[in-house]
Amino acid sequence: DTIGANLDRTVLRVGEHEALVECVSGRRFSYPELVAEVDACALGLDALGVAKGDRVGIWAPNCAEWVFVQFATAKLGAIMVNINPAYRTHELAYVLKQAGISVLISAVSFKTSDYRAMVAQVRADCPDLHEVIFIGEPAWERLMQTGRGRDRGLLAERETQLSADDPINIQYTSGTTGFPKGATLTHHNLLNNAFFVGEGCGYTEDDRVCIPVPYYHCFGMGMGNLGSTTHGATMIIPAPGFDPALTLNAVQDERCTSLYGVPTMFIAELGLPDFADYDLSSLRTGIMAGSPCPVEVMKRVVEEMGMSEVTICYGMTETSPVSTQTGADDDLDRRTSTVGRVHPHLEVKIVDPSNGLTMPRGETGEFCTRGYSVMLGYWNEPEKTREVLDASRWMHTGDLAVMDADGYLNIVGRIKDMVIRGGENVYPREIEEFLYTHPDVVDAQVIGVPDERYGEELMAWVRLRPGAEPLTPERLREFCTGKVAHYKIPRYVKIVDEFPMTVTGKIRKVEMRQISVQELG
Ligand code: ATP
Ligand code: MG
Repeated sequence: DTIGANLDRTVLRVGEHEALVECVSGRRFSYPELVAEVDACALGLDALGVAKGDRVGIWAPNCAEWVFVQFATAKLGAIMVNINPAYRTHELAYVLKQAGISVLISAVSFKTSDYRAMVAQVRADCPDLHEVIFIGEPAWERLMQTGRGRDRGLLAERETQLSADDPINIQYTSGTTGFPKGATLTHHNLLNNAFFVGEGCGYTEDDRVCIPVPYYHCFGMGMGNLGSTTHGATMIIPAPGFDPALTLNAVQDERCTSLYGVPTMFIAELGLPDFADYDLSSLRTGIMAGSPCPVEVMKRVVEEMGMSEVTICYGMTETSPVSTQTGADDDLDRRTSTVGRVHPHLEVKIVDPSNGLTMPRGETGEFCTRGYSVMLGYWNEPEKTREVLDASRWMHTGDLAVMDADGYLNIVGRIKDMVIRGGENVYPREIEEFLYTHPDVVDAQVIGVPDERYGEELMAWVRLRPGAEPLTPERLREFCTGKVAHYKIPRYVKIVDEFPMTVTGKIRKVEMRQISVQELG
């Protein structure tokens, strides 16, 4: 199936059911209304000359128009390029050129960023860019108006020229470990993965999915939007950008049954001073993904947010994105200590990164996967593609994992984050989990910093509860002694209010390391 055909079929199945709610504006769309907007947008873009394979950029925070553009480009077989809302001129110009974007649909501004001014600055430098349309401005209205005036039968004709294996999306990775790479994904990649994710959450038409995660990332546009539409569920956009209070408001007012987030978002929601005042009783399930989910946070999500069936997903942009998911029937222990079992129709293996040989079950190695979910490649970057996709199309994820006898996977950490101290491999995740059990610690991140004697030393960055006594290296050592091996006890402690973060809410350890190295001199 193509994404467009799938949406049309959902409409036939669910009829006048609510599809999309934008909480801040109060706009609501039923499934037939959504498709009418999508088709108008598609026919409007078609009238502008957008053809199959053309790149259409979208640079906007979460909003209804984002959803229209997502489905409209898919209906034309055009390749949508999601542009990070946090970008500035340098990065914007890079993406516009790297992907050869001919039409850009943009918000006028977002938060403190004047998108219009930034586009104006880079435009002369991007010869492929013919058309820039700002959402909400007359040009956008004209596009939609033109589309509404055209025959919808044209889209059926376009559909006959599409294949489910065509690329329709360039999705940049989070940029956690370096410069983002543009994963090229097909209808088939995204649609199937989203369908299985929705199955994993047990979605039906009655589900109302709260999506505070950015559309720019596949967590939002894939697992969120497509996860909902493939099951006829309702998409709820709490706010353009992430705001913990507006998110819980949306859950309460819209009676959401499912809530998505990376761990840092759940931490922010649980940390709201008036957290206990929200009525979250409608919540049943949700997804926590994107980075390691601390056990303590997971427990609170289940117990205090009532998300008794919440699932953990593990995946990456390059695999559309999900590879493993915990089940609603897994006990809390499984859901806190693993990222679940492998999704249907995927192959996986765990290999020794030094020689590529498959490891015995129960041993740690690099997680590799193959199957329908694997991207075509990085857009126009054959060399980077070859670094991760081998000749047999195995995707080498760069993540260290171990699988237990029942097939449950545990993500130990990224190969790039592993610390080698005095010849011992140390996985920061393990120490972070332990630091979370300290009563004063709200969030903890551990990195390796260069050390003359041991090669690398451990350093913990911690966020403390307001009013807590500063955590000195001595107090930390006292807390750890006797409970974790001596070589895993961080030598340095830095107390911070926040961590350097990507727009997808992931902590940029690369930047933490740079800052720490500078500070330590
Ligand atoms: P970049 O590739 O640009 O450095 P990134 O890898 O963070 O950024 P994404 O594709 O958004 O970009 O994230 C995928 C990565 O996130 C995975 O490779 C893995 O390291 C991490 N990850 C995702 N889900 C989980 C999870 N449930 N537990 C632990 N880590 C996770
Ligand atoms: Mg990555």
